[in-house]
Amino acid sequence: MIDPNASSLESFARAKLAELDAGTLRRRLRPTLRGTGAVAERDGRRLVSFSCNDYLGLANDPRVIAAAQAAAARYGAGAGGSRLVTGNHPLLAELEERLARHKGKEAALVFGSGYLANLGITPALVGPSDLVLADALSHSCLWAGARISGAEVVRFGHNDLADLGCLLDRHRGRHRRALILTERVFSMDGDRAPLPGILALAEEFDAWTLVDDAHGLGVVEAGARAPLEMGTLSKSLGSYGGYVCASAAVIDLLTSRARSFVYTTGLPPASAAAALAALDILESEPERAARPLALARRLTARLGLEEAESAVVPVLVGEAGAALALSAALEERGFLVVAIRPPTVPAGTARLRIALSAAHDEAQVDALAEAVRDLRG
Ligand SMILES: *Cc1c(COP(=O)(O)O)cnc(C)c1O
Repeated sequence: MIDPNASSLESFARAKLAELDAGTLRRRLRPTLRGTGAVAERDGRRLVSFSCNDYLGLANDPRVIAAAQAAAARYGAGAGGSRLVTGNHPLLAELEERLARHKGKEAALVFGSGYLANLGITPALVGPSDLVLADALSHSCLWAGARISGAEVVRFGHNDLADLGCLLDRHRGRHRRALILTERVFSMDGDRAPLPGILALAEEFDAWTLVDDAHGLGVVEAGARAPLEMGTLSKSLGSYGGYVCASAAVIDLLTSRARSFVYTTGLPPASAAAALAALDILESEPERAARPLALARRLTARLGLEEAESAVVPVLVGEAGAALALSAALEERGFLVVAIRPPTVPAGTARLRIALSAAHDEAQVDALAEAVRDLRG
């Protein structure tokens, strides 16, 4: 028998882990139960969670749960195949129609997750003789899609229209097609992209724009729409899955060419049913949809921070170890606020990422603000 602990794989893993430990960058899984009212249970303790992306509190809404249960009971637990083979349950077409209508687009395509959507969209549209311009703070899966495409990838300064204009001017001419990647609401900073300006530059230089709306849907809805709008069913809709909305022709092309759509199993019917029920609630209860942003503004006012532009409020700390310590101290006081460390955010900008939800009440937000102020001194 060969000792597995002596293999080069094992020593590689151990050396890498030691490196991560040295920078307080190792990540650990902690069992967490979520319930109604923004409560999360860890190690037998009930905490008020400010780290869930379930912005409208719909993952535990009885109507959403009932829709998922009914679909699972009628149609089974899994899709049983790729959507292009036998996994295309009719609920998916219904969901696509609803998503397209919500976004004012001709058509939509549902993927297995938001990450899979971004892995598939960019490579189906651009290739080695093309150009991708991505905001410096773009989500990991936007970068991954760009790299897989084989296009030349250039980053522009975060929300920096002047930089984007210069780069288009310098690089656009040498490329056949160009695609700009950005986010409506940036996932770790909570600020919004200057979409009208980006769309104007895209028009001027004949570039296409893909907006990742993972953190905007249902929370920050107003404003310009890009030709390509992708997002996730797993945040404000409380379910699981990803989607893209665009023109009918673009959606038809992605249906045939996006590999992370073609070569993977369709979404379970229960996830589609849950997302449909959540969309109904989102559209029929505007007062619920208005709450996360209102609570985020209440929090930024109490913390003396710039007014929130979305449901995400970053509290910058700096070093990873200090962010972890602040998170641990908040957990002692009954709050779950996970520290975000590099490489999710740039080095030296470790932070608490506070996510507000319609499930929070004002008193919980005020108590968190007081605890953060107290701990930061
Ligand atoms: C969460 C997230 C995704 C991925 O969505 P999943 O459905 O969770 O895979 C994509 N982009 C951004 C900006 C996100 O925050």
